Amino acid sequence: MRDEGTLKSEICQAIDRGKAETFAAAEAILRNPELGFKEFATAQLVSDRFQHLGIPHRTGLAITGVKGVIDTGRPGPTVAVMGELDSVVVYDHPFANPETGAAHACGHNIQIAMVLAIAAALQATDAVSDLSGRIVLFAVPAEEYVEVDYRVNLARQGKLEFLGGKPELIRRGEFDDVDVAMLTHLTPRREERKLSMLDSMNGCVVKQMQFIGRAAHAGSAPHQGINALNAAMVALTAIHTQRETFRDSDTVRVHPIITRGGDLVNVVPADVRMETFVRGKTAAAMEDADAKVNRALRAGAIAVGGKVKVTTLPGYLPLTTCKPLAALFKENSLRVVKPEEYTEGGHLTGSTDMGDISHIMPTIQPMAGGAEGTSHGSDYRVVDMENACLTPAKAMAMTVVDLLHGDAAGARELLADYKPAMTREQYLAFMRKMNSEMVYEG
Ligand SMILES: [Zn+2]
Ligand SMILES: [Zn+2]
Repeated sequence: MRDEGTLKSEICQAIDRGKAETFAAAEAILRNPELGFKEFATAQLVSDRFQHLGIPHRTGLAITGVKGVIDTGRPGPTVAVMGELDSVVVYDHPFANPETGAAHACGHNIQIAMVLAIAAALQATDAVSDLSGRIVLFAVPAEEYVEVDYRVNLARQGKLEFLGGKPELIRRGEFDDVDVAMLTHLTPRREERKLSMLDSMNGCVVKQMQFIGRAAHAGSAPHQGINALNAAMVALTAIHTQRETFRDSDTVRVHPIITRGGDLVNVVPADVRMETFVRGKTAAAMEDADAKVNRALRAGAIAVGGKVKVTTLPGYLPLTTCKPLAALFKENSLRVVKPEEYTEGGHLTGSTDMGDISHIMPTIQPMAGGAEGTSHGSDYRVVDMENACLTPAKAMAMTVVDLLHGDAAGARELLADYKPAMTREQYLAFMRKMNSEMVYEG
């Protein structure tokens, strides 16, 4: 049996040797961006690659997910290395799909390339002969919480219950056979250097609001109408009045938009729609801010004597980094980057469904540099493929070796000391509790 160090070097060399294919996959996905739960071509690319590598896999999980399994045939825990299939909408991004606006302005194409690079390197080095347990290589759908109406429709058709990829995969039991999870996300923030590890990220709930008024001639008979746009405006102002009550330590973010502001200028708006996320560092902070937002929405309806329908959808739970797993990742990172190029700690106010995974199993979401521009912006691009893709792929693959080498003592030790914040059942109950619909008459 090769020792850990030898196996790690062989895997890293294999990742370097497979560079051309890895970069080609990243480029192909970059040029064909797809939105969440519609990533059919990207899923096909992953499936074709797994096929080519001789990795048994299942497709169509939560619509587009692809789950490959490398089984050592020896008992032991299962470690998942994941990548996200989806993109965001940025119409003026240079590689945007001109029809849908889909663009890889969050670097998820690189995540998939990392998973493929690791898959190829594990196979090329016959890593299974020195490991125990299983490695799951998981391309997961729909991390970005976008096109909410489209997803609500999928839910109505019974194709989904939860509107994010990983929550839906958890519900379908696709993480029941996974014990440890990791995924590296790209970052354009320079302060995060080559590789970094945050302590935590915000969670969020997603809200859709409909203000219902009464239509009337806007010029000659506005007194006969009930102006739903004015209700929405009062609600927005009322939301802003809550901001001084949000504690800095809770890092609450509320950022509503109006998605429908009226139909004809000479008709008093009777149907005005808004959407918002309510984000916070803890579930309690999210619940507190959400109650305040609900109050503000009601204020809008009261002011004009209209109605407001508020639909609250469970979003993502806050991300908590598993410290012992992060320590293993750091050790391996320092084999491929200099100490000053690795940063750790801090909190990010965005949200990800890796947060949900982090509530039920040891999870890390390291960040890799190599991107530039604005996250979700038209100037977002990857400028250093080596750093963005190969470096994190090596660090993750070596962490897998630490966990599963020999009789997988590394993973067994990690799991023995770990207590999940929630069981899968508690998680599903929490998500369902966050789901609500309320109609308030002002
Ligand atoms: Zn994103
Ligand atoms: Zn992202």
